[in-house]
Amino acid sequence: MTMTTQALAPCPILIGGVWSTPQTATTNKVYNPSTGEVIAEAPMCGADVVDAAVRAAEAAGQDWAETPPAERARILFRYKMLLEDHFEELARSVTREHGKTITEARGDVRRGIEVVEYACGAPELLKGEILENVARGIDCDLVKQPVGICVGICPYNFPALVPMWMYPLALACGNTFILKPSEKVPLTGIRLIELLVQAGLPKGVLNVVHGGRECVDALLTHPKVRAISFVGSSPVAKYIFETGTQHGKRVQAAGGAKNFVFVMPDADFDNSVTGLIDAAFGCAGQRCMAGSTAVTIGKAADRLLPDLARAVRAITVGPTDRDPSAKMGAVISAQHRDRVVGLVERSVQEGASLLVDGRGVKVPAHPGGFYLGPCVVDEVRAGMAIAKEEVFGPVLNVMHVEDLEGAMAMANEVHFGNGACIYTQSGKAAREFRHRIKAGMVGINVGVPAPLAYFPFSGWDYSFFGDLHLQGREGIMFYTRQKVTTSRWFRYGEGDIWHKEK
Ligand code: NAD
Repeated sequence: MTMTTQALAPCPILIGGVWSTPQTATTNKVYNPSTGEVIAEAPMCGADVVDAAVRAAEAAGQDWAETPPAERARILFRYKMLLEDHFEELARSVTREHGKTITEARGDVRRGIEVVEYACGAPELLKGEILENVARGIDCDLVKQPVGICVGICPYNFPALVPMWMYPLALACGNTFILKPSEKVPLTGIRLIELLVQAGLPKGVLNVVHGGRECVDALLTHPKVRAISFVGSSPVAKYIFETGTQHGKRVQAAGGAKNFVFVMPDADFDNSVTGLIDAAFGCAGQRCMAGSTAVTIGKAADRLLPDLARAVRAITVGPTDRDPSAKMGAVISAQHRDRVVGLVERSVQEGASLLVDGRGVKVPAHPGGFYLGPCVVDEVRAGMAIAKEEVFGPVLNVMHVEDLEGAMAMANEVHFGNGACIYTQSGKAAREFRHRIKAGMVGINVGVPAPLAYFPFSGWDYSFFGDLHLQGREGIMFYTRQKVTTSRWFRYGEGDIWHKEK
């Protein structure tokens, strides 16, 4: 059942500084997951709109690339202030179109603002290197130059943060940009860019398009696009990487995840429970850093599970856009909820047991909302579908393993490599885990070890395709190309017109 009870929010594209709503053959419904209401329709743009966006970016490119980094940073400073002024409005927008709680939405916006703050350091970040006398009288210098037209393709789960992982750094480095927010949550992205325009960004430097595969393919294959930043599921990330690189583009493509949280018998159990609840059920499990599998080691299960089950049962589910007491929101769509429920049901058929069953949770005031209560699936084993696939919903798997060695062997078999955490009071176990676990982001007594703006968001293996990650110095490297000049100026002396005889 879908409902539309109020005027739809506009969902325009931005090309060459002009906002407009293209008349496309199809649109994608944008929902408020808390109620199931349709709140907007995203135009599904094709190659013609993409080409217009590329032409606008190209027209603006040369002047923006020549704009001194400090001037570009000044616009970003103004942008940062506008983001602060509109902080609550942006967080409410995230909650409305995504369904996460207002506290989680504030985190989404705050983490994004931190990337803008980092990008404000452009003059420092873009400094090059020089070495005199690489051979007698010969100097070498390295400068970082923009790569040209860059593209950002975003997922639905962080409507503010993920776009801000991309364009602030790209713009700081002197590139022009085409942003494609997720067609499921385009409204926050539009508002973010309206504020950027207000901050004084010249026309055409950043353009916004909407759409799905057709739009993405046009971006991936356009000959004038130089670099693609992508965040989304792993199969699509792999496709983006392969197609983009085949078309000669630089690509960074962050994918999905399956993150383990080890609980050792010597763990601080209160903190383990709190950490696991946040890791597994924060944003209703729709996080690439979700701690979606608890691995109890040795006798840890006896102490962990009763408290964990009690805490999970206490999570209240509700309409986060109007009930601040709701601890967890709905998932993004009815279709996604059905997929998650399907995975839970299949795990039971395959021999797992449901320690907490959230399938029956209802929110009577909003029967159209996409709700699923928190689930804990116990006795999950390695071969089960729920152990292999990214679930991306409010479901915590529990696996039991005899010792740390066995747990690491099991976790290292999984082809994803985003995050992994351990709860322990043993420095030796923590050190062993950090050194040997195959994941790019590690938490020690921290359930969601998502790096902040100054570090790379560092997924490995099937969780990342490319070389240079998003954020931090790697982000700056991605959005610049280096030029090394070797120069020799013949010896100053006789024959130079300004040479004065002593
Ligand atoms: P998704 O892969 O379905 O969509 C991501 C983007 O790709 C969207 O803009 C969409 O329009 C586009 N797209 C979808 N299918 C496509 C196709 N076949 N061809 C071309 N483009 C296509 O991802 P989602 O469901 O929006 O987001 C959730 C996923 O993102 C999860 O897997 C999550 O783990 C991942 N994610 C990863 C990170 C990270 O840093 N590794 C961060 C956030 C989210």
